[in-house]
Formats: sequence, structure tokens, C-alpha cells
Amino acid sequence: TRTYVITGSASGIGATTAETLRTRGEKVIGIDLRNADIEADLSTPDGRASAAARATQLSDGTIDAVIACAGISAPIPATISVNYFGVTELLTALLPALRASDAPRVAVVSSMASLQPNSPELVDAALAGDEPRAIEIAEGLAAQGALIGYSIYPSSKRALSRWVRRASISEDWAGSGIPLNAVAPGTVLTPMTTELLATPEGTQMVDAAVPMPLNYHQSPESIAYLLIWLTSSENTHLAGQVIYDDGGADATLRGDDI
Ligand code: NAD
Repeated sequence: TRTYVITGSASGIGATTAETLRTRGEKVIGIDLRNADIEADLSTPDGRASAAARATQLSDGTIDAVIACAGISAPIPATISVNYFGVTELLTALLPALRASDAPRVAVVSSMASLQPNSPELVDAALAGDEPRAIEIAEGLAAQGALIGYSIYPSSKRALSRWVRRASISEDWAGSGIPLNAVAPGTVLTPMTTELLATPEGTQMVDAAVPMPLNYHQSPESIAYLLIWLTSSENTHLAGQVIYDDGGADATLRGDDI
């Protein structure tokens, strides 16, 4: 039995991943705002620290894998705090417990939205680890209305993907024998997208931004199964990758530009 810590375990991709692993007999420690083993707010430094301390305690000091799914897409400053700092700071705090495992693995959920127009200034502030500055930039974007405010989301995911790329080959991660990767989904049918996809206009808007020639909108299982493989002991060398599991959206939009 492996011990998994899963953030965002109360809904959508995180809930499906947690349920699938529990059904397979693994031990899962869920973190979410509500309805989880650990109820914590990952938008704040205190919330991250207490979640990490509690997860370390509940796992008796040994965590085999962390799967970070918690995230929000609203055009508000909290989006950079949850989606970037809520992942990177939590993971860093869980490093000692991961190092105690003989096959530690980590996977995070980014998004194909990381390819959408974003704020390079916000991306850089996040990667510099400067949360107050990142929030200040995000406040400026949010104040310009929902359309520009939306760019906080792609910025948070662009920064997260880049962090994975950089951190994965560092002493902390590769040096500790921990494969660290990201999965970038297309349009997944979860509570995050329910409202947007409820009208033909919303659906048209989403589909124009996220073209999915292979099998169209995807189930949370389509992401969960990949997260589970990435964090299994079968993955010994896949590191630093952002895997677009998106029905061909990235191949459509980026084409040869890789
Ligand atoms: P969801 O809304 O169903 O689940 C997200 C979970 O994160 C919720 O349970 C929520 O309570 C939790 N969460 C939010 N803020 C939190 C906080 N401050 N502290 C702790 N937990 C918090 O959404 P989902 O579709 O399952 O999204 C999971 C991940 O997948 C997110 O990172 C999202 O950005 C990403 N993603 C989703 C899609 C999609 O189309 N649904 C596409 C690409 C990427």
C-alpha cells in the first residue's frame, strides 16, 4: 500500500483520483477547503503550513506520492495564490516526508490554458517566489474587468508548468530521487466547467479556445489515470514534463512550435 496526499480531493479531478486510488486499496489523505481528511485553505501561507504538518502527522512521516489538483479559475487574485503558491509551497513543505519514502513521486495539475494569453510580469513574480508582488499584479489585472482578470488563470498555470520544469531537475527533486511532472488537461467535465458549458454560447467560447479533435470534452478519469501512473513506482525516469492530456488541443494550437 502506498500513501497518497491529494489536494482538491473533495471535487472533480481530485475526487476521482482519490476515489480510484482508494478503490485500488491505497491510502489517501485528502486536503480541501471542506469534506476532506484535512480541511485547509491553500490560498494562505498558514493554511499551507498547517496542511503540510497535518499530512506529515497522518502519514506517520512517510508520504509516497503527492497529487496536487486543488485550483480555481476565477478572475481574482486568489487564483495565483491557490494555483501557484498553494502547490509549490505545499510541495516544498512535504519534501521531508516524501524523502522518507523508497519510491516518492509528485504530479501536479496545470492546464492547456497555460498556453493562452497571460501576464509575463505575473508569471515572473510567481517564479521569483514573491507572493505579495504577485497578488499586487493580479489585483491590477482583476481591476480591469473579467476579460483581463481571466489572464490570472493562464498566468498561474504558465508559472506552475515552468516551476515544474525548473524544480524537477534540481537537487531538491531529481537529487532526492523524486520524479516531478505536470498534467495539462483540456476541457474536463467537472464542477469547474459546469456553468460555462451549460449554455451554447459558453460552450462555443470554450471550444474556440480549447479545440479537442480527439474525443471532445474529457472525463475526470482521463486525467486521474495519468496522474496515478505518473505517481506510481512504474515511473522511474519521466521528469520535468508538462503532459498535455487534452484531446489534441495543444497539438492543434501549437502545431510544430515545440
Ligand atoms: P473542481 O472545482 O471540481 O475542484 C477543485 C477543488 O479544489 C475543489 O474541491 C475546491 O474546493 C479545491 N480548492 C479550491 N480552492 C482551494 C483552497 N484555497 N484550498 C484548498 N482547496 C481548494 O475543479 P477541477 O476541474 O477538478 O480542477 C482540478 C484542477 O484541474 C485545477 O487545478 C484546475 O485548474 C485544473 N484544470 C481543470 C480543467 C477543467 O476543464 N475542469 C482544465 C484544465 C485544468
